[in-house]
Amino acid sequence: MAEDIEQAVSRRRTFAIIAHPDAGKTTLTEKLLLFGGAIQLAGEVKAKKDRIQTRSDWMKIERERGISVVTSVMTFEYEDNVFNLLDTPGHEDFADDTYRTLSAVDSAVMVIDAAKGIEPRTLKLFEVCRLRDIPIITFVNKMDRESRDPFEILDEIEQKLALDTAPITWPIGRGKTFSGTYHLALNAVRRGDDEKERTPVNGPDSNRVAGLLPENEREAFIEELELAREACRPLDVEAFREGHLTPVYFGSALRNYGVRDLIEALGAFGPPPRAQEADTRTIEATEEKMTSFVFKIQANMDPNHRDRIAFVRVCSGKLERGMKAKLVRTGKPMSLSAPQFFFARTRVTADEAFAGDVVGIPNHGTLRIGDTLTEGEEILFRGVPNFAPEILRRVRLGDAMKAKKLKEALHQMAEEGVVQLFSPEDGSPAIVGVVGALQLDVLKERLNFEYTLPVEFEMSRFSVCRWISADDKAETLRFIEAHRGDIARDLDNDPVFLAQHAFSLNYEAERWKAIRFATIKDYQ
Ligand code: GDP
Repeated sequence: MAEDIEQAVSRRRTFAIIAHPDAGKTTLTEKLLLFGGAIQLAGEVKAKKDRIQTRSDWMKIERERGISVVTSVMTFEYEDNVFNLLDTPGHEDFADDTYRTLSAVDSAVMVIDAAKGIEPRTLKLFEVCRLRDIPIITFVNKMDRESRDPFEILDEIEQKLALDTAPITWPIGRGKTFSGTYHLALNAVRRGDDEKERTPVNGPDSNRVAGLLPENEREAFIEELELAREACRPLDVEAFREGHLTPVYFGSALRNYGVRDLIEALGAFGPPPRAQEADTRTIEATEEKMTSFVFKIQANMDPNHRDRIAFVRVCSGKLERGMKAKLVRTGKPMSLSAPQFFFARTRVTADEAFAGDVVGIPNHGTLRIGDTLTEGEEILFRGVPNFAPEILRRVRLGDAMKAKKLKEALHQMAEEGVVQLFSPEDGSPAIVGVVGALQLDVLKERLNFEYTLPVEFEMSRFSVCRWISADDKAETLRFIEAHRGDIARDLDNDPVFLAQHAFSLNYEAERWKAIRFATIKDYQ
């Protein structure tokens, strides 16, 4: 029987994992899928990461450098919930890809290495979540190793992230003696994830707890737990959903501790698909009519078929196979004949998808990042951001005859979000912009492999790029007029100001007070 929309929405949890490299994101992903029944054997995700594949040369970059460029979606069910885990690239050079993915989730799990605490990339990703009010559940990983004191970790989260903490579980033992988690509010113990249910206990001084700890640690544990109860905040679900408080879980993804706690938490109080802001109104997830937006484009792995998969987050209604949708940017109808779901190993045809679900829509370049699909309504979702590139280059092509082909290829790459493309107003050759240098390597490989366009990059005289706007459009035009040689247009024809260095940008910003120089642009 077809599922009713309200019920389907309430079951869904769409989330991402944010972490500094090496904190254990891959291991945790693997275990979530394992306990969610999506894969048979732990090790699949890792195996996928390591497997020799010859899909294309840019995948080779990924392999050689041990990084994950591709964003994928993993769906699993646990008890009554459907979980969509959106994976993000681990390498910071692909940060903009990660940020776009975060625009498609309702919550995030922040993995912290118990010995290292908050690391730089955790902080950066957390800031992006905060900007979007994404609620965060914290998982303190690697408790089976030598780690910091749990109070110290909680304090660090509060200080560095300005975020309240509410420990839900407490580690029983540490390092070599780590042997389970104690649920503070329920007074219940789970030894490890192999135990599906927690065992209720009378308190931290119960025999069951004592049996898990060496004799010389028992007293300290009882005291610690009492202090935790007195000093720490209880869970306030509203504060969590508003992004002011993070529930904290302790565990070890490698040794199967705390993973079930985490899945249960997401199911119990993780936010279901949110209402989504569009330009003219807010769309509720339970509305009847389908709405969705594209947050990611993935070039097909198979270079013989130059089609692309657009990753679409459903925001409301039901996306059904074979339905006709309207692509609002162009006003044209589009038939969704073969939407796909992704699992850890495979993809399957998606017959129906609800708010919170992510489906892949194969297309030949019709869809762009930021596009809105509806059943006819003229709305545009905002919020898939563009970040000002930090590296600007000119593309040099050996064979001048292929200039037109290069232009087309760059346009495609820009629509996929591999790079950003800026066309100077003075007619000089286009400039590509990226956030991280590895993106240039990917661009070079793909131009060579997919388009047989061997290219080199040249320094551009610019190093800073900002989107310009003003409340008074005439002022923007005056600025553009006065800086013709330093203005370019992005893919949407929006103007950017290119500066040689930060100093010249500051100088102009001083002189043109009414002009905004933005480092982030939301796709229209
Ligand atoms: P990622 O870079 O965040 O994806 O981290 P990985 O999941 O690849 O983990 C990095 C390293 O830490 C690997 O060698 C893992 O085996 C190890 N690791 C992950 N989780 C744990 C844990 O809970 N305990 C211990 N001791 N090692 C872990």
